[in-house]
Amino acid sequence: MGSMHTGLECHPDRFDELGRFYAERAKGGAGLIVTGGFAPNFAGRMKNEPGTFERSDQVKDHKKIVDPVRAAGGRILLQILHAGRYGYHPAVVAPSAIKSPINRDVPAELTSDRIEETIRNYATTACLAIEAGYDGVEIMGSEGYLISEFLAPRTNHRTDEWGGSLENRGRFPIAVVKAVRAAIGNAIISYRISALELVEGGLTQDETLWLAKEVEKVGADCLSTGIGWHEAAVPTIAGAVPHAAFIESTRRLKEVVKIPVAASNRINLAEDAARIISDGSADLVSMARPLLADADFVNKVGRGRSDLVNVCIACNQACLDHYFTDQVITCLVNPRAARENEFSDTLAKAAKRVAVVGAGVAGMAAALEAGRRGHHVTLFESAPRIGGQFALAAVVPGKEDYGLSLKSYEAQLADAGVEIKTGVTVDREALKRENFDEVIVSTGVTPRLIDIPGADDPRIVGYNKILDGTVRAGERVVIIGGGGIGHDVALFLAMETNGRRQTREEFFERWGINGKSKAHPPKRQITMVKRSPGAFGRTLGKSTGWILRQELKDLKVRQIADARYLKIDREGLHIALPDRNEVLPADTIVVCAGQDSDRRIADAIAASGQTVHVIGGARLAGELDAKRAIYEGAILGNRI
Ligand code: NAP
Ligand code: SF4
Repeated sequence: MGSMHTGLECHPDRFDELGRFYAERAKGGAGLIVTGGFAPNFAGRMKNEPGTFERSDQVKDHKKIVDPVRAAGGRILLQILHAGRYGYHPAVVAPSAIKSPINRDVPAELTSDRIEETIRNYATTACLAIEAGYDGVEIMGSEGYLISEFLAPRTNHRTDEWGGSLENRGRFPIAVVKAVRAAIGNAIISYRISALELVEGGLTQDETLWLAKEVEKVGADCLSTGIGWHEAAVPTIAGAVPHAAFIESTRRLKEVVKIPVAASNRINLAEDAARIISDGSADLVSMARPLLADADFVNKVGRGRSDLVNVCIACNQACLDHYFTDQVITCLVNPRAARENEFSDTLAKAAKRVAVVGAGVAGMAAALEAGRRGHHVTLFESAPRIGGQFALAAVVPGKEDYGLSLKSYEAQLADAGVEIKTGVTVDREALKRENFDEVIVSTGVTPRLIDIPGADDPRIVGYNKILDGTVRAGERVVIIGGGGIGHDVALFLAMETNGRRQTREEFFERWGINGKSKAHPPKRQITMVKRSPGAFGRTLGKSTGWILRQELKDLKVRQIADARYLKIDREGLHIALPDRNEVLPADTIVVCAGQDSDRRIADAIAASGQTVHVIGGARLAGELDAKRAIYEGAILGNRI
């Protein structure tokens, strides 16, 4: 399991939760786990909080992580990460005083003495890790943190023995590996190497290969590949990145060293992992988010049931975005992740007959958890297929994995004994006749319509009809609403890939990985309009929103804020802006104006005096959010 910050690294009082989190992954078959990064000293921490491992009194805290993993038969490395200029605190340091474009603090330039001291700090942390029971350490040398900053001319402008030539820039990482090797004897050292920098002034391919050979010489036992600096203007782990897109860079590293090399980044399917190993591209596959999405990933694959693996959809909404907003991470499609203590794994004392009405994500999550606890669950869905808003999202460019997630849900529901009845509309009487012990209503939402003169014009259509293919939009499209769905619909219509994944070549060309970036040619002329003032896309996810904003900009999607809708007529949508009125000609006007709860069944049941549980969008449409909906469903299904 690859390293991932959980947000708990700064909370020693919660290390027992971290221990349980990793132990679940060890039980699930992960061969080797790497913790989130711990800093070797105060300046190297990620945030303005603890998160260092530098003193012997901290060993007992780390035993709370190591012991449960050991008890579960697992092996675990401590990752040592010095954040360098990426730390979010005023005491940041770097080889040179050059500010990162993603951080507001200018780092202080490290003196030679402090460089030597920092190297000793790495060794001390490694010793402490061994004392705590870790199998070894991973030295974080990629993604633009301190070690990358020493290596790259972009961030290292020094003129002493730590800067200038490649040998000088490489002196720091090599000294760190040497010092750690000397400190921990035969224990494992994994070196996280940046296989591809994706920034100007980063290491060249030849320099990277040189570094790989050097760290092997001084004692690294394996290389774990990282892709791209955090400040790179190229997506590296978002859904837009094709599966295993960067595997060639890993393969090139493997060709020059004898130690094992691990591949990572957008490898979320067992089939891809198996291919990578069998075709010799890498010796190991490192997955972090996929093991958040399914702690039992490896065991399921081992049993020949990769169809049951709960697929990571690369949304980043509950993992990275949580970390960046100071929340403990979890997983959108697996709300148990890092909340293992909230869920029960035992069978319910008495099996109940449970009806779940509505097979969107909330309903599926509720049915799955209830089925796993031994209840007899029937999941009703009036549409011909399960999935609700998730099924709609699966055609949006970069969201194709949502479709894989639905397939996996189907398999998991069947495995949990849930009976799925699609194309069936149930009402209160039908539910009553069946005499269910519990009724869960997860009927979701209906897209909101707009109420302006001309709103009955046949050119007006709800976003659901565009995404499900009922209506094909014309050449000139106006989108009403600037939320997440408005952006998704704009991308869908501008690219019109209709669920086809981008190939690796298309993706590389788009983001200029081997040359100049080339935007996709827009398929339509699109204008987005919203009533509120200010920039579009501010509510999009922190780690993925920039990609969507950039795509729409390059696809020449026009965005108009601060608009009042006046009417729709033959000419198009008439809007009033603060300084003028404008008519937006349109062949199709797509309404992405949010949703209203569909509470018809819930209200009818409640009115009859029967108990009903209402979850997801049916309970609250205002903040319609798949993460909340799945959590609500899962926790209810687990506790019912
Ligand atoms: P949303 O984010 O709440 O946006 C709804 C949009 O409709 C707003 O831009 C609002 O803009 C407009 N609106 C609201 N009431 C209106 C009315 N009566 N008439 C005209 N316009 C109206 O909802 P959503 O786009 O449907 O997304 C639903 C949820 O899914 C959100 O939580 C969203 O974050 C999430 N999601 C996220 C992504 C992503 O991050 N990529 C993608 C899809 C969905 P004005 O008030 O300014 O007009
Ligand atoms: Fe994957 Fe999204 Fe879960 Fe993160 S939150 S692990 S990206 S599915």
